[in-house]
Amino acid sequence: MSYARPKGTFDILPYAPKADDLWKTSPLWQHVTTLCKELAHLYGFSEVATPIFESTWLFTRAAGDDSDVSKEMYQFSDKGGRDLSLRPEGTAGVVRAFIENGLHQLGSSHKLFYLGPFFRYDRPQAGRYRQFHQFGAEAFGVSSPERDFEVIMMLYKLYTKLGLKDLNLLINCLGDESARAEYVTKLKNFLTPHLDQLGADSKRRLSANPLRILDTKDPKELALLEKAPSILECLSKESLTQFETLVSYLKEQGLPVTVTPRLVRGLDYYNETVFEVTAGAKGAQNALGGGGRYDHLMKKYGGPDLPAVGFAVGIERIILAMLDQKVRLPESRKPVAHIIVMEEKAKKAVSMNLESVRAEGIAADMVCVKKIQKGLTEANKRGASFALIIGSNEWEKGQFQLKSMKSGKLSEHPLTQMAQILKEQSKTYET
Ligand code: AMP
Repeated sequence: MSYARPKGTFDILPYAPKADDLWKTSPLWQHVTTLCKELAHLYGFSEVATPIFESTWLFTRAAGDDSDVSKEMYQFSDKGGRDLSLRPEGTAGVVRAFIENGLHQLGSSHKLFYLGPFFRYDRPQAGRYRQFHQFGAEAFGVSSPERDFEVIMMLYKLYTKLGLKDLNLLINCLGDESARAEYVTKLKNFLTPHLDQLGADSKRRLSANPLRILDTKDPKELALLEKAPSILECLSKESLTQFETLVSYLKEQGLPVTVTPRLVRGLDYYNETVFEVTAGAKGAQNALGGGGRYDHLMKKYGGPDLPAVGFAVGIERIILAMLDQKVRLPESRKPVAHIIVMEEKAKKAVSMNLESVRAEGIAADMVCVKKIQKGLTEANKRGASFALIIGSNEWEKGQFQLKSMKSGKLSEHPLTQMAQILKEQSKTYET
């Protein structure tokens, strides 16, 4: 029997069996996800974790039946006949958890973040997986340019702190409901005489959901849309002022902002601000993350009428962009001490010593080998600072040999003082 992981999924491993697997190594994942958590803390966001599956309606209600997200869901009935889906995105679950747990009773402003796997039954390709991972933030309770600004800043800082370059921040304002209604009429009037230039999907959307036509990737439709009216022409004075204020804040911070009136993003629940960050020009897979305002979603789910803004970023995309741009990668964490035991009788005592070493916060590992060379090669390979050698000679004397892997210097010490000696030595050891 041969095993294979499901199509569109991947394993995250401690090291890369092949050069192409580097993006799937846990030190890189830890580097990125640790920074996500640090930034969330810095910007005042607290972690939430919701179930990986929820009732299907929760997702379709939020995203809209016509959205790619709804169409790509892993939907199933459980043994009790419940209609469930693996979560395709994070916002719906967080909003559900917020309402169900009555968090609004604990204050008027809440900043939450999540990190975890998401699932979409899409055609797998580089940068597009059926199980992927997102870091997302949702801020409830405040509708202001300042709130949008800090949410976008946190997203942008994540990329720059990871060393990514060539970033573009695409931003748009979808206005309020009446602005969108006015715009939909204008867009329909513009597109109707050009029906022959629209594909089947867009033709259908023209009556069902015309705004989504702006999401097209079809070059012919894109060329046509160049001449389409802009949603910015339909904004109320208030929306426009808030949007301009936000854009001015972002520019003052030096962000590479491009106002992109065609940007609507794939979900139906957005209003006012929407944004997306891209890196370089790698076609559809250059979207590193994005988000926007969804001031009416909470109420739509029967919760309090709280405005909201959020974003989600794909961890895979970030790591792939880091490798693509050859950014400096973090050093993987290495053990300080590699203990080489060549004497059977020493195993127990060394195992006990090893616990004392670790209790001092010193990362250490033990191998039992017959030949010292094998142990030393492994110490080197793992990047240990010290090799500790216990052969039959050392064991008889109750000693161990300490070898500095950098200088090659050897010294002998009592076994009982292993933790103490390592503590002292690692203080002076320069990596
Ligand atoms: P979305 O919820 O579609 O706005 O996606 C937010 C971010 O998640 C995107 O910008 C991507 O970085 C990432 N993403 C979305 N779908 C996938 C996928 N199938 N595979 C990998 N990353 C994805």
